[in-house]
Amino acid sequence: MKEDILHNLEIINNRIKKACEKAGRNYHEVKLLLATKTVSAERIKIALESGQILIAENKVQELKEKYEDLKDIPHENHFIGHLQTNKIKDILKYDVSCIQSLDRLELAEKLHQKLLAENRTIEVLIQVNTSNEESKFGVDPDKAIELIKKVSEFSTLKIKGLMTIGLFSAETEQVRSFFKILKNLQQKIIQENIPNVEMNELSMGMSGDLETAIEEGSTIVRVGTAIFGERIYPDNYYWDEGKIENKGI
Ligand SMILES: *Cc1c(COP(=O)(O)O)cnc(C)c1O
Repeated sequence: MKEDILHNLEIINNRIKKACEKAGRNYHEVKLLLATKTVSAERIKIALESGQILIAENKVQELKEKYEDLKDIPHENHFIGHLQTNKIKDILKYDVSCIQSLDRLELAEKLHQKLLAENRTIEVLIQVNTSNEESKFGVDPDKAIELIKKVSEFSTLKIKGLMTIGLFSAETEQVRSFFKILKNLQQKIIQENIPNVEMNELSMGMSGDLETAIEEGSTIVRVGTAIFGERIYPDNYYWDEGKIENKGI
């Protein structure tokens, strides 16, 4: 188990290095984030003890369950799942430094109120639905700037960039087109020069498409399966949850 994880990490780091070389980018510009949904604290520990520092959960419940076991090992926690407003109070208890999945004004408003009351700030990425699939979360690309302008007025939310899931496809060029949408959007936002908005981070690329994402400018690749193995739940269990609940199913 330990050997597998360490071996897989080595493979991923080599893939990142190669992709950076191919794209003429510095290897240190790309952070590896471990997507740890369904992975036990024990196995996450193996990765952290080998020198990894950035991990992320999709569900507040899992964050909570693993928190005690991981809190003494230095690391950084991001959140990459759909965040329901009734979970805001909980997520703020578990040292999450960045919420990568901020995708709507209502969530921003409620986060801001709670953060103000606690006298603290948090980093956020704006999640964009580049592939325009009904089943995925994220703001539409053409509504992103409007959302960012509004979120930028909340002093407790520090916008650092954009995140997208993209599309599961074997078609590299199709996948690439969605990463390009995120990159173009980033450039547009930079030109808008919005106060309190930084646009340095582009979180895109997963186990299957990280090379393409790095070629298109990714600064954070989020990798789960290629390090920890296949998950038993289908991904839409994580990505569609809120929508299913909203429909009352
Ligand atoms: C699970 C997940 C990943 C990692 O996907 P893999 O294909 O397992 O590498 C990345 N981003 C998000 C938002 C995820 O939920």
